[in-house]
Amino acid sequence: MKTILVVGGAGYIGSHIVKLLLKEKYRVITFDNLSTGYRHAVLGGEFFLGDLANRDDLRRVFQHYPIDGVMHFASFIQVGESVTHPDKYYQNNFVNTLNLLDIMLEQGVKACLFSSTAAIFGEPLYVPIDEKHPKNPANPYGRTKWMVEQLLNDYDRAYGLRAICLRYFNAAGADPECQLGECHEPETHLIPLVLQTASGRRKSITVFGQEYDTPDGTCIRDYVHIQDLCQAHLLALEQLLHGAPSDVYNLGNGAGFSVREVITSAQQVTQRNITVIYGASRAGDTARLVADATKARQQLGWNPQFADLSTIIQHAWQWELQQLQQKGRG
Ligand code: UDP
Repeated sequence: MKTILVVGGAGYIGSHIVKLLLKEKYRVITFDNLSTGYRHAVLGGEFFLGDLANRDDLRRVFQHYPIDGVMHFASFIQVGESVTHPDKYYQNNFVNTLNLLDIMLEQGVKACLFSSTAAIFGEPLYVPIDEKHPKNPANPYGRTKWMVEQLLNDYDRAYGLRAICLRYFNAAGADPECQLGECHEPETHLIPLVLQTASGRRKSITVFGQEYDTPDGTCIRDYVHIQDLCQAHLLALEQLLHGAPSDVYNLGNGAGFSVREVITSAQQVTQRNITVIYGASRAGDTARLVADATKARQQLGWNPQFADLSTIIQHAWQWELQQLQQKGRG
């Protein structure tokens, strides 16, 4: 049985990964400082409360468990906040990742899966975006992720640390079994905010910008189901543990939906009224991000099961209704 350290395993993507790894019979150790994640979202395995800023915390976990590979999800993810508070992003997303990689090397662990993002590309020169597309991040969040990708490349060449970078387009949806879902505080992502408006938790959803160079003027994104992302991680992990060299993969469905289209689809799924306000554009946003995930399909054998936007929204809606019910009880 292989032992996997999931750094940031209490967060949105990490918690879904922990659940899948346990189902696939991995031994899972979650390392998290619970700054944005939830202990109750870690559905099994062992939990280690620790901080990436503290090299001793990291050393302890590596000395305590026979770790075969690391999956790194612990980063700050808000594009807008990264523009106003870049220090927070460079510190956590870059410096703390350096801590993790250095301790991995010190302790002889040389296989890593890294959560990267479509934000490394910036305003695309062409769509869909393949792995070779030039990298020109439009915000500090994207820059920190691109810096880590380059760092990983250098660490492979110098120290033989193998890493697979998975560049998510817009992770969305929830565990189809409804045990887990998106729960950011504050929530900034479009689909959960739209659904919180549909459920009555919020009064309205503000559309950020209507003058982008897209057919309806609102930003286009490629939404990919959390469960499909998890499957891609599993495939990449298997390859990494079997000695595959470092690589990068774009993960998306290859279909772009505008903010307005997402709201319309949410209206259809929920059958609720959703009040929309049109506001200013958000700093750091690009007009259109759509993935070419041919490489992941061909080399990893990735085959998304929930590519349909309405299914993604349906699962997120199921989760939103359940959250609401639990809040009502509590
Ligand atoms: N968006 C919006 N209103 C909101 C939140 C997001 O119009 O309250 C837009 C945002 O400008 C972007 C898209 O929805 O074009 C997806 O944003 P999100 O924050 O979900 O993900 P990101 O693309 O930043 O990773």
